[in-house]
Amino acid sequence: MTIVISNVRQQEIGRDFVVIADVTTNGEKKSLSFKRSGNHPQLGDWEPRLDPFLVTILMPAMVSGQDIIVEGDIDQSILMAANSTIQQTLRLLDHKWKIVAINAQPRNQADQRFDPSLGAAIGMSCGIDSLYTHHFLSQATKTPEHLRPKVFFHNHIGAHLDRETFQKHLENAALYASEAGIYLVSVEADLNALFPGRFTHNHTIRNIAAAMTLDHLFASFIYSASEEIGRKPRLTRNSGISAIDPVFLPQFNTVTKRYLSFGFAATRKEKTLLVQTIPTAKQYLTVCTHAQKAGTPYRNCGVCSKCAQFLVIVDLMGTIDKFARIFDIGAFRDNRNRIFMRMLRASIGGRGSLTDHIFSCLSRQKEISDAILDQTFPANHTLECKNQTYIPTIIQFINIAVSVVL
Ligand SMILES: [Zn+2]
Repeated sequence: MTIVISNVRQQEIGRDFVVIADVTTNGEKKSLSFKRSGNHPQLGDWEPRLDPFLVTILMPAMVSGQDIIVEGDIDQSILMAANSTIQQTLRLLDHKWKIVAINAQPRNQADQRFDPSLGAAIGMSCGIDSLYTHHFLSQATKTPEHLRPKVFFHNHIGAHLDRETFQKHLENAALYASEAGIYLVSVEADLNALFPGRFTHNHTIRNIAAAMTLDHLFASFIYSASEEIGRKPRLTRNSGISAIDPVFLPQFNTVTKRYLSFGFAATRKEKTLLVQTIPTAKQYLTVCTHAQKAGTPYRNCGVCSKCAQFLVIVDLMGTIDKFARIFDIGAFRDNRNRIFMRMLRASIGGRGSLTDHIFSCLSRQKEISDAILDQTFPANHTLECKNQTYIPTIIQFINIAVSVVL
């Protein structure tokens, strides 16, 4: 059983550029396409290659145990890594996936040169991680040329609820990019049927493939880390491929391109503390994927776990009102007790340990809010508590929790 990838071609449709290849599985041929759009003047200059299609098909092939035949050439570095370390790293996520053989002509790029002046492309969702990355690389006076942000990617490859949500988020990213003086491009591909599990289980490899379809626009592709380094790779409801990002992305390096993860050394809390100081964050920050579903006029629902993580911190910092235009602060306040209970439960784990922690907290009341924050955003950092109203709220809910648990 093999998967055959062949016949790559590019079409110009209006102002968009679509690259298409045939993917034949068990004799059934389907086309796989990536539509690219954006305001970069060199958007259409990409030379069609099969490399992004191989990267897209690799994980699905490992899951089904099918070898891959590429009817064409693949960059020599990527082909070697795809036949060895890339698959070995992916198997950290699921040991049942098979190592498959990839048959392709290696394309030698020895006559090519790395061009640092192209700068960096950053995946830009306007969330905490990508705003942190952009801010960090823009502010640092010593950022090397090949890491200086020149292009943002905002893709529609499975993260968004639907096209309407994507469009709204894209418009937001476009305004942010325009204010930052950076080009914005987007890649759209229907990949959900190909990939196993949740988007969080494979978003990194989808985004690498999408970036490859416009790799003439950057020297480095920077993918913001959503997990701290050292987490155990596991595919669960709340975790996915991100744990392998720092070692995974550089395996796609070639003579001319660098791929890297950024921000994995900072905690979510550290990133939030920095992002809440960025002046444009109060207009463009988007951490939520539920607002559209909930029908709220705000970009961020204020209640889901991602909104709550952010709002609890800025409330403690006393800066929550700065974000009243983009977060449903009313919903957050109305649901604050429920949010705390959820965070408390999530941070502590099992019922036995919950009981232990409740009694431990009750004996040291003033440390409770720090205890919750530090377990939700683990770090050796303390956060000055400016909003003391959390203390009675937490006590009240711990009392309820005690009555439930006991
Ligand atoms: Zn939300």
